[in-house]
Amino acid sequence: MKPNFIQKVTNWGNFPVVEKEMRSDDSLRKIKEFVKNNNEIIARGNGRCYGDASLSEHIFSTKKLNKFISFDRLNGVLECEAGVLLSDILEVTVPQGYFLFVTPGTKFITVGGAIASDVHGKNHHAEGCFSDYVLEFSLLNENGDVLNCSRDENADKFWATIGGMGLTGIILSAKIKLKNIESAYIRQESIKAENLDEIFKLFDESESWTYNVAWIDCLQTGKNIGRSILMRGEHAFRHELPKKFSENPLRLKNKWKPTVPFYFPDFVLNSLTVKLFNWAYYGKQRSKEVKNFIDYETFFYPLDVVNDWNKIYGKSGFIQYQMVIPKENGKAGMKKILETIAKSGNGSFLAVLKLFGKSNPEAYNSFPIEGYTLALDFKVNSKLKKLVAKLDEIVEEFGGRIYLTKDSMSKSSLTNYLQNVENPKFVSMQHKRILNT
Ligand SMILES: Cc1cc2nc3c(=O)[nH]c(=O)nc-3n(C[C@H](O)[C@H](O)[C@H](O)COP(=O)(O)OP(=O)(O)OC[C@H]3O[C@@H](n4cnc5c(N)ncnc54)[C@H](O)[C@@H]3O)c2cc1C
Repeated sequence: MKPNFIQKVTNWGNFPVVEKEMRSDDSLRKIKEFVKNNNEIIARGNGRCYGDASLSEHIFSTKKLNKFISFDRLNGVLECEAGVLLSDILEVTVPQGYFLFVTPGTKFITVGGAIASDVHGKNHHAEGCFSDYVLEFSLLNENGDVLNCSRDENADKFWATIGGMGLTGIILSAKIKLKNIESAYIRQESIKAENLDEIFKLFDESESWTYNVAWIDCLQTGKNIGRSILMRGEHAFRHELPKKFSENPLRLKNKWKPTVPFYFPDFVLNSLTVKLFNWAYYGKQRSKEVKNFIDYETFFYPLDVVNDWNKIYGKSGFIQYQMVIPKENGKAGMKKILETIAKSGNGSFLAVLKLFGKSNPEAYNSFPIEGYTLALDFKVNSKLKKLVAKLDEIVEEFGGRIYLTKDSMSKSSLTNYLQNVENPKFVSMQHKRILNT
């Protein structure tokens, strides 16, 4: 009989699926013992990376490291264990007038995962990465020592761990800075763009907005290539809210959430259904421009409203391919990428374009560089490897790179910005795959 800590594990893309040892503990003594007794360990937060970044022979799940340590309400500084979810933080802090400076497109990730991937949001051009608001964290390293890491103490480990994909050790807890908000609502403008020229112009005109993101219909070709909707937003002040929101501006009503009950059969998602979805999504907004106030959940986390939405891709799973192309090559690179996808017939349900501002040179393992980033979901099928190889070539040609936390099949040359993380204790399947490519 297999010991019961060997189990099937997979991340959000349901690809790959592996059988590995996974343990979770909240006793430092036991965590240290686990690290001492094993090699090829990787920390796993909530498995919201898509591929194999938080998989290895021995996985340490931070699920039990889920406690808040302190909250300084005067200065907006929160300290918690690394397995605390961003959703837990928002539940506690939003009613008190605080929000995360940087949040990705799902709130179901842990603080440890946010640091290890150095996640970005819709505001990179204005407010940078998650790490810009990390004051310090504690790290269990390969020797079993707990290091306090900050810009002043163990700074080398601090910077290697930021975006270091769990390869420098296990983050146990962290202290982060939060931003003041007057309401839980966003003042949003959605603007339709007919093609790439228009959406790039809109991004340029919207740089003074804190949050910018565009949904792209990646099956359009010819003069419609790059047809999209830009959504830009600002945290709403209380005085500008309509009356129905301003009476209780920091509290949202609980909403019912549907759940995808089972893995969809393979035939459900194909280029025709993707085309239909894109047509309906673009057509849903009748006028060129809509201005409104929406709650932060709808603005930041539109996908979180359906539980287990990853099951619509079926049992063979899906990958997310996210790349960044330097700003000067942005339009030409995106055009070639979108043409290649449209030609391949491998439609992406979700295609999201964002603008990155200048990167922080100290955070050398972080993915963002100044430019345009596109994230695409692809169902795993027999044609996918070939498409990914073609996209990799284009990204390389235009001087771009791949986001490791989404990757499960890309070429090593696009991912080798990762540095100072080599040690025999902490190794992920992703890192091994990349080193062997
Ligand atoms: C719907 C959706 C939308 C997303 N949108 C965005 C986005 O807009 N921007 C963005 O940047 N990302 C985005 N992501 C990706 C996600 O934010 C990252 O993959 C994040 O790192 C996942 O965190 P996690 O806690 O689930 O960690 P996991 O997925 O389990 O692990 C991710 C990485 O972090 C490491 N890690 C986790 N915990 C620790 C720890 N305690 N110590 C050391 N290393 C650790 C793992 O080893 C692994 O390398 C999105 C993901 C989904 C599913």
